[in-house]
Amino acid sequence: MGLLFRNVEVNGARVDVRVAGTRVAEVGTELATDDEATVLDGRGGVLLPGLHDHHLHLLATAAARRSIDCGPPAVRDATGLQHALTVEGGSGWFRGTNYHESVAGELDRTVLDRWVPDRPVRIQHRSGALWMLNSAALSVVSDVLDDSLDVERDDLGQPNGRLWRYDARLRAGLAADPPDLDALGAELDSYGITGVTDATPDLDAAAIDLITAAHRSGALAQRVVLLGAAPDTELPDGVVAGPYKLLLRDHDLPTFDELHVQIEAVHRSRRAVAVHCVSRESLLLTLAVLDDVGTRDGDRIEHAGVVPTGVAEWMAALRVRVVTQPGFLHARGDAYLRDVDPDDRPHLYPHAGLLASGVPVALSSDAPYGPLDPWQVIDAAMQRRSESGAILGEAERVSAATALAGYLGAPDDPGGAPRRVVAGAVADLCLLHVPLREALTTPHRSLVRDVVIDGRVREFDP
Ligand SMILES: [Zn+2]
Repeated sequence: MGLLFRNVEVNGARVDVRVAGTRVAEVGTELATDDEATVLDGRGGVLLPGLHDHHLHLLATAAARRSIDCGPPAVRDATGLQHALTVEGGSGWFRGTNYHESVAGELDRTVLDRWVPDRPVRIQHRSGALWMLNSAALSVVSDVLDDSLDVERDDLGQPNGRLWRYDARLRAGLAADPPDLDALGAELDSYGITGVTDATPDLDAAAIDLITAAHRSGALAQRVVLLGAAPDTELPDGVVAGPYKLLLRDHDLPTFDELHVQIEAVHRSRRAVAVHCVSRESLLLTLAVLDDVGTRDGDRIEHAGVVPTGVAEWMAALRVRVVTQPGFLHARGDAYLRDVDPDDRPHLYPHAGLLASGVPVALSSDAPYGPLDPWQVIDAAMQRRSESGAILGEAERVSAATALAGYLGAPDDPGGAPRRVVAGAVADLCLLHVPLREALTTPHRSLVRDVVIDGRVREFDP
């Protein structure tokens, strides 16, 4: 049993690497092999530690893979949306994603009914925070519509089809149609991703069951960190609870005291926090609270979408990490330049500046809201170029090597030192077709040749 990589590049040298069980056993030249080992000739390609996506949403990504894109650039106007709704959807539920008001304004059930009166339609806003349903869809999920303000209502008190932060409750209403994590596992394999951190807040038991079942079956072989698992959740091997996710709502921020109580409670349970901070206000509030409560090792800021001048130094002093998504700069850069407050524009999704100030920065996709492919994200971190070619924060560009390092921190150490291929390391590995220098010139998913998780070679379609 075991694996022997011949002729691979590790730390700039041509070596052999032997894997025994779930660990790297030996790195050296002309290593002996036994007859049972599977031998892979690397032909000089670099053998990297497997990549870890430090912030994504597994179930939403799996569901999005079966959905119709209803936002720019795929759909740009009402005609395009109508076309997607009526021509491309098939029968049964229509599930749309990525909607933005620039397409056809605010959608509610009256608007949607005009286009699709009979078939149930649900469309998710690009922010992930809002679902828009037509009347047929509302009646299917009527059991899970509660009295909270998350169910928007018309003047007569009837649900108008707009449901806020309703993912978990909608899933309960659609239990017969669970998302397919097996296909997502295979997709992650093909990118060289050997671990993921699910950043969905408040995961319920059903969601955790879906994820752990896919992991146990081997279909989703990736190591999984859950930020949304409640403190006392029992998790199987290979699935762990990470820092606890706190979602700040920008239109309804907590007070300083409220956030203080929340963060203190999480820290008291010996867990770090992962705080969602997209805006300037949410970041400053969070840092002020952390400054007062005191930080715990592992405390992290998700997104850090706007970091005003001087604040990076404060973050460094507090020893908080940032988990960022350069992929947004490409996918949404043009919308940012159009919609974001001019005062905030120079400070969007900083990267090089954070690193220079001493803030650890990890990379991630935030899939399905940003592109899942890490090689695309690495390219976006180097270019910071929108779809139309505008550059967002040229000084914040980083090298391909720096961007790649953002994917190589340990699952529990985002932005920390890149893991290394050395004897004793966990055998989560990613073999590329080419040496590192070549890969860094043109990062692309097609360079991924073999992926090993826990000592086992993954099969995937390139
Ligand atoms: Zn997210």
